[in-house]
Amino acid sequence: MTNKLFIYNTLTRKKERFDPINPPFVGLYACGPTVYGDAHLGHARQAITFDVLYRYLQHLDYKVRYVRNITDVGHLENDADEGEDKILVKARLESLEPMEVVQHYMNRYHLNMSSLNVLPPSIEPRASGHIIEQQELIGKIMDAGYAYEVNGSVYFDVSAYNENHPYGQLSGRKVEDLLSNTRALDGQSEKRNPLDFALWKKADPAHIMRWPSRWSEGFPGWHLECSAMSTKYLGMQFDIHGGGMDLLFPHHECEIAQNVAGYGKPSVRYWMHNNMITINGQKMGRSLGNFITLYQLFAGDHKMLEQAYGPMTIRFFILQAHYRSTLDFSNEAMQAAEKGFLRLMKAIAQLDVLKPESTTTIDVNGLADRCNRAMEDDMNTAKLIGHLLSGVTQINNLAEGKETITDTDLETLKSLYHSLVFSVLGLTLPEASGQSDKITGELIEMILQLRNDAKTNLDFNTADRIRDRLSNLGITVKDRKDGADWEIN
Ligand code: ZN
Repeated sequence: MTNKLFIYNTLTRKKERFDPINPPFVGLYACGPTVYGDAHLGHARQAITFDVLYRYLQHLDYKVRYVRNITDVGHLENDADEGEDKILVKARLESLEPMEVVQHYMNRYHLNMSSLNVLPPSIEPRASGHIIEQQELIGKIMDAGYAYEVNGSVYFDVSAYNENHPYGQLSGRKVEDLLSNTRALDGQSEKRNPLDFALWKKADPAHIMRWPSRWSEGFPGWHLECSAMSTKYLGMQFDIHGGGMDLLFPHHECEIAQNVAGYGKPSVRYWMHNNMITINGQKMGRSLGNFITLYQLFAGDHKMLEQAYGPMTIRFFILQAHYRSTLDFSNEAMQAAEKGFLRLMKAIAQLDVLKPESTTTIDVNGLADRCNRAMEDDMNTAKLIGHLLSGVTQINNLAEGKETITDTDLETLKSLYHSLVFSVLGLTLPEASGQSDKITGELIEMILQLRNDAKTNLDFNTADRIRDRLSNLGITVKDRKDGADWEIN
């Protein structure tokens, strides 16, 4: 097992050598989606970032337990613990049970993830299935004196906590600055302090997602589920917690405070955050009309899209940037990614037909070193892909006979590309993309042209054989005066 991996820890703002608590086991937790709508590019980037980390750690021979949650209760419309539950709003709009909304979007999320070749996590816990664990944690936080109850709701007491433990370390914010930037509480609020956040909310009569508790019939605050479920499955201390930068504050900051208050110490060793995706330089938002879901991308069904983009093009596009860099979506960038991806895949196919020679004129070990160093340096997939593509130039030179390679070096080169591209980056051959449909169509046209030539030469035997073989493949041929139409059944 190599231990050359360095990862950037958001908490310490430094690249640190990855040193798991109990090797070879690694506990990895990443925040999953709130399932009230279809996943978009932002969801894809987060899922793919931690999927590659999951794959890469396994590639380094770690035994990884990867927990990615599903938020199906408690995520309110705004971060001030006001507004309605996002899932309930959707359920009311569509006259559905809240759990029908959850199931519907969770199924679609899973389909999206499988299209993107994102591996399922080891455990996928749901917030609604862990109400008791969340209530227990609230009890502990209250016992420690860091939470208070008002009218059946329970709030985390940030100022009491901050007297003994610094609040704001992860996001680099100070309580005093946060206070001066936060609007004052209105008379309606039950909170003592605007920075306090809900651990338990009493449900009003119209709120149908509710559970009994010693405080009231209600539901847990959003931040609580990740504290309760990560420690339940990964232990009181675990290695890596991931998520998008948009979750850093307040979600992850609150998570740290809850764990320290309830369990006496922080649970997470390394915090990792992926950056956001912008669309043509703009932040993504429903109100801006640039909110593109993955289904729309796969189908090319959005006014901003010039064409459909296959899931592997999207995966390649995301991995072409380092996970901590910003990434801007545009049709041009996607088309360039599509080209780069196909170029890489073609070269890998080329490796299977190269003829070995008695000498090697390219530097295979140097390429392997550069690729491995890129991944060890905070999972720099951007650099890795750069090296892999410069290797493609070498592979093309080998194919053209400008360079030579021995049998052993060819095997090394093949296994380098196969393990990094397929196992670590999780890219697959573009079968599912529109590209393969296009090739199939052109092949059928070509075969029908040959059949037409046979008929012109009065070779009806061959013409019939072609028609029958196509029919066995489920392709119906209908003759016209000037050729033939075809249809896949
Ligand atoms: Zn979370």
